[in-house]
Amino acid sequence: MSFTVEQILKNKSNIIHSVASTETVQNAAIKMAENGIGALLVIDNKQLIGIFTERDIVNKLFKNCLDPCTATVGELMTQNLIFAKPTTTIEEAMATFTQYRFRHLPVIDGNRLLGVVSSGDVTKWLLSNQQQEISYLAEYIRGETYY
Ligand code: AMP
Repeated sequence: MSFTVEQILKNKSNIIHSVASTETVQNAAIKMAENGIGALLVIDNKQLIGIFTERDIVNKLFKNCLDPCTATVGELMTQNLIFAKPTTTIEEAMATFTQYRFRHLPVIDGNRLLGVVSSGDVTKWLLSNQQQEISYLAEYIRGETYY
Protein backbone atom coordinates (compact mmCIF):
# COMPACT_ATOMS: atom_id res chain seq x y z
CA MET A 1 0.00 0.00 0.00
CA SER A 2 1.28 3.48 -0.86
CA PHE A 3 1.13 6.24 1.72
CA THR A 4 0.21 9.77 0.64
CA VAL A 5 1.48 13.25 1.52
CA GLU A 6 -1.88 13.86 3.24
CA GLN A 7 -0.92 11.23 5.84
CA ILE A 8 2.37 13.02 6.50
CA LEU A 9 0.52 16.34 6.94
CA LYS A 10 -1.87 14.75 9.46
CA ASN A 11 1.14 13.85 11.60
CA LYS A 12 2.67 17.32 11.60
CA SER A 13 1.75 20.64 13.12
CA ASN A 14 -0.83 22.35 10.89
CA ILE A 15 0.85 25.75 11.10
CA ILE A 16 1.67 27.05 7.61
CA HIS A 17 4.70 29.32 7.85
CA SER A 18 4.39 32.21 5.43
CA VAL A 19 5.73 35.67 4.65
CA ALA A 20 4.58 38.64 2.55
CA SER A 21 6.56 39.46 -0.60
CA THR A 22 7.29 42.96 0.76
CA GLU A 23 9.05 41.57 3.84
CA THR A 24 12.84 41.97 3.99
CA VAL A 25 15.07 38.93 3.60
CA GLN A 26 16.40 39.64 7.08
CA ASN A 27 12.92 39.31 8.64
CA ALA A 28 12.22 36.19 6.61
CA ALA A 29 15.52 34.67 7.80
CA ILE A 30 14.62 35.50 11.42
CA LYS A 31 11.25 33.77 10.93
CA MET A 32 12.92 30.66 9.50
CA ALA A 33 15.50 30.54 12.30
CA GLU A 34 12.92 31.06 15.07
CA ASN A 35 10.73 28.27 13.70
CA GLY A 36 13.56 25.89 12.76
CA ILE A 37 12.41 25.68 9.14
CA GLY A 38 14.07 26.15 5.75
CA ALA A 39 11.21 27.55 3.69
CA LEU A 40 8.38 30.07 3.83
CA LEU A 41 5.41 30.24 1.50
CA VAL A 42 4.96 33.73 0.07
CA ILE A 43 1.37 34.88 0.52
CA ASP A 44 0.02 38.29 -0.56
CA ASN A 45 -3.66 39.18 -0.05
CA LYS A 46 -4.42 35.54 0.87
CA GLN A 47 -2.94 34.38 -2.48
CA LEU A 48 -0.03 31.96 -2.61
CA ILE A 49 2.42 33.61 -4.99
CA GLY A 50 5.72 31.86 -4.38
CA ILE A 51 8.16 30.11 -2.10
CA PHE A 52 11.24 31.48 -0.38
CA THR A 53 13.85 29.08 1.01
CA GLU A 54 17.26 29.22 2.67
CA ARG A 55 18.75 28.24 -0.68
CA ASP A 56 17.37 31.46 -2.22
CA ILE A 57 19.38 33.32 0.41
CA VAL A 58 22.55 31.49 -0.59
CA ASN A 59 22.04 31.40 -4.37
CA LYS A 60 20.49 34.82 -4.93
CA LEU A 61 21.25 37.11 -1.98
CA PHE A 62 24.87 36.17 -1.19
CA LYS A 63 25.74 35.39 -4.79
CA ASN A 64 24.71 38.91 -5.85
CA CYS A 65 26.02 40.66 -2.71
CA LEU A 66 22.58 42.03 -1.84
CA ASP A 67 21.76 43.63 1.50
CA PRO A 68 19.39 41.42 3.56
CA CYS A 69 18.02 44.49 5.33
CA THR A 70 16.73 46.03 2.10
CA ALA A 71 16.31 43.14 -0.38
CA THR A 72 12.75 41.82 -0.28
CA VAL A 73 11.38 38.30 -0.39
CA GLY A 74 9.49 39.23 -3.57
CA GLU A 75 12.79 39.92 -5.36
CA LEU A 76 14.32 36.56 -4.49
CA MET A 77 11.42 34.10 -4.23
CA THR A 78 10.58 31.39 -6.79
CA GLN A 79 7.26 32.09 -8.48
CA ASN A 80 6.66 29.02 -10.61
CA LEU A 81 5.57 26.65 -7.90
CA ILE A 82 5.39 22.88 -8.21
CA PHE A 83 2.62 21.48 -6.01
CA ALA A 84 1.50 18.15 -4.63
CA LYS A 85 -2.11 17.03 -4.19
CA PRO A 86 -3.24 15.32 -0.98
CA THR A 87 -3.39 12.05 -2.95
CA THR A 88 0.22 12.36 -4.17
CA THR A 89 2.06 9.27 -2.93
CA ILE A 90 5.27 9.46 -0.95
CA GLU A 91 7.11 7.79 -3.87
CA GLU A 92 5.78 10.49 -6.23
CA ALA A 93 6.85 13.23 -3.81
CA MET A 94 10.36 11.71 -3.59
CA ALA A 95 10.54 11.56 -7.39
CA THR A 96 9.55 15.26 -7.55
CA PHE A 97 12.26 16.22 -5.03
CA THR A 98 14.83 14.32 -7.09
CA GLN A 99 13.64 15.67 -10.45
CA TYR A 100 13.52 19.36 -9.46
CA ARG A 101 16.32 19.26 -6.86
CA PHE A 102 14.34 21.13 -4.23
CA ARG A 103 13.16 20.03 -0.80
CA HIS A 104 9.71 21.56 -0.28
CA LEU A 105 6.31 20.75 -1.74
CA PRO A 106 3.20 22.79 -0.96
CA VAL A 107 0.12 20.56 -0.85
CA ILE A 108 -2.99 21.98 -2.53
CA ASP A 109 -6.51 20.57 -2.57
CA GLY A 110 -8.40 22.43 -5.31
CA ASN A 111 -7.55 25.98 -4.30
CA ARG A 112 -7.11 25.18 -0.61
CA LEU A 113 -3.57 25.22 0.76
CA LEU A 114 -3.15 22.29 3.19
CA GLY A 115 0.52 22.63 4.14
CA VAL A 116 4.08 21.93 3.07
CA VAL A 117 5.81 18.55 2.99
CA SER A 118 9.61 18.63 3.02
CA SER A 119 12.08 15.96 1.94
CA GLY A 120 12.99 15.74 5.66
CA ASP A 121 9.36 14.91 6.54
CA VAL A 122 9.39 12.16 3.91
CA THR A 123 12.66 10.68 5.20
CA LYS A 124 11.35 10.74 8.78
CA TRP A 125 8.12 9.03 7.71
CA LEU A 126 9.95 6.32 5.74
CA LEU A 127 12.34 5.61 8.63
CA SER A 128 9.54 5.28 11.15
CA ASN A 129 7.60 2.96 8.83
CA GLN A 130 10.65 0.83 8.18
CA GLN A 131 11.21 0.52 11.92
CA GLN A 132 7.60 -0.58 12.44
CA GLU A 133 7.92 -3.12 9.64
CA ILE A 134 11.19 -4.49 11.07
CA SER A 135 9.60 -4.87 14.54
CA TYR A 136 6.62 -6.63 12.99
CA LEU A 137 8.83 -9.01 10.97
CA ALA A 138 11.03 -9.73 14.01
CA GLU A 139 7.93 -10.62 16.05
CA TYR A 140 6.69 -12.75 13.20
CA ILE A 141 10.00 -14.65 12.96
CA ARG A 142 10.00 -15.21 16.74
CA GLY A 143 6.44 -16.53 16.41
CA GLU A 144 4.94 -13.75 18.53
CA THR A 145 2.42 -12.62 15.92
CA TYR A 146 -0.87 -14.51 16.02
CA TYR A 147 -3.95 -14.17 13.86
P1 AMP B 1 14.95 24.06 -1.44
O1 AMP B 1 15.85 22.92 -1.80
O2 AMP B 1 13.53 23.61 -1.18
O3 AMP B 1 15.52 24.93 -0.37
O4 AMP B 1 14.79 24.99 -2.74
C1 AMP B 1 15.74 25.10 -3.78
C2 AMP B 1 15.19 26.13 -4.79
O5 AMP B 1 13.95 25.67 -5.34
C3 AMP B 1 14.88 27.52 -4.23
O6 AMP B 1 15.15 28.47 -5.23
C4 AMP B 1 13.39 27.48 -3.93
O7 AMP B 1 12.76 28.75 -4.00
C5 AMP B 1 12.88 26.57 -5.04
N1 AMP B 1 11.74 25.73 -4.63
C6 AMP B 1 11.59 25.06 -3.47
N2 AMP B 1 10.45 24.39 -3.44
C7 AMP B 1 9.83 24.64 -4.62
C8 AMP B 1 8.59 24.24 -5.22
N3 AMP B 1 7.74 23.41 -4.61
N4 AMP B 1 8.28 24.71 -6.45
C9 AMP B 1 9.13 25.53 -7.11
N5 AMP B 1 10.30 25.94 -6.61
C10 AMP B 1 10.66 25.51 -5.38
